[in-house]
Amino acid sequence: MMGQQSGIQEQLLFCFSLENHVPKDHLLRGIHRLLDLGDLRQQLFGFYSPMGRPSIDPELMIRMLICGLDLDDPVPDHSTFSKNRHGRFRESQAFRLLFETVLQRCMAEGLVKGEGFATDASIIKADAQRQHRVEGSETVDWGDPEQASRPVREYLTALEEANDPQESARTLSLTDPAATWTAAPGGPAFFAYCTNYLIDLEAGIILDVEASTVNKAAEAKATRTMIDRVEDKFDLKPEHLVGDTNYGTATMFGWLVDEKDIEPHVPVFEKSERTDGTFGRSDFTFDAENNRYICPAGKFLKTAWRSKKKNPYRYRASLLDCQSCPLKSQCCPNMNHRQIDRSPHESARDVARAITKTDAYKQSRKERKKVEMLFAHLKRILRVDKLRLRGFSGAHDEFLLAATAQNLRRMAKRLAINGPAPQLIPA
Ligand code: SF4
Repeated sequence: MMGQQSGIQEQLLFCFSLENHVPKDHLLRGIHRLLDLGDLRQQLFGFYSPMGRPSIDPELMIRMLICGLDLDDPVPDHSTFSKNRHGRFRESQAFRLLFETVLQRCMAEGLVKGEGFATDASIIKADAQRQHRVEGSETVDWGDPEQASRPVREYLTALEEANDPQESARTLSLTDPAATWTAAPGGPAFFAYCTNYLIDLEAGIILDVEASTVNKAAEAKATRTMIDRVEDKFDLKPEHLVGDTNYGTATMFGWLVDEKDIEPHVPVFEKSERTDGTFGRSDFTFDAENNRYICPAGKFLKTAWRSKKKNPYRYRASLLDCQSCPLKSQCCPNMNHRQIDRSPHESARDVARAITKTDAYKQSRKERKKVEMLFAHLKRILRVDKLRLRGFSGAHDEFLLAATAQNLRRMAKRLAINGPAPQLIPA
């Protein structure tokens, strides 16, 4: 059955008083006061048996994970932590509830404005040795799934659900197969996950966090998941989203502009621009009314001339125009005539291109540093530069806990400016 701490009291025979040793303006006092775990107890209640010996209080374990323990509290055994982390806490989504409880408090304190969001991802090393790996060409015999470790079981289940033929072609860790084999510039490759943050730009509060594999498509997908979840749960949708080039794909712009009506403050990834001195896409003007491009020589590029074959997104110049054009060597020296592919999301990309020329965009570029600073804090101060838990569920749990701690710290710092120092140990 669920146990409960009998209230934190200073011991009469204990000559060391935590209250006296923690400075009045220490951040821990603010965090301690703001961490209200009442809802969490209710959420977990159904996961405990109504009979038997009282368990370690789950609130105690959560507090230990977030901000430590009082000096005279009994310390739970590490196996108790392990069982709860991979059992009740995960099944009941206790860490997500904890994160959302703290986020709601941040909102109640006026730290979230909901106008501008920023998104970014950071690579965190997995707890997987680079030597214990198999290359994509090798076949792995995982043995009996029932006997496999938890990360392997989770991976095999996800593999079956995804049914992705590409999956077998990648380099796999034998201890944490869901981790991505990735190379940082200048260093040896390693296994890793990505932590993805969605933050509100008002005070840099983290609105959502998601674990993903290390690749651009997965990071963009994680951002879409977070934006949808924040809208569903808190009825919050930003006017604009700030992100780097990784989010500058046509699909992402289409989703942001056409589906969500969110202004993308994101650089446009221009793969159609050229570096050999010949005309790039930006040298051609799109005439939306007549659905055609106008080239630097004033000729038209259309989706169909006389050919019956029509690709609605490929615009071609006339063979006759190009063959006699004095600009041909600057335009299409190795082709008979010029053609341009237009993305189905090109109008959304045009919206993003127009935004990049505004002052608001310059301001957004500066504000994006807020999310980068959170990642720097995560790695340098909280020391979450390498995961302790394996598998996607382990990465999710650690990223959620770290983001919760960062929000608590940010809120405590903001609110500590006003009011008296809170008591660590209630009188
Ligand atoms: S080569 Fe063709 S497309 Fe290019 S500028 Fe000349 S006419 Fe226009």
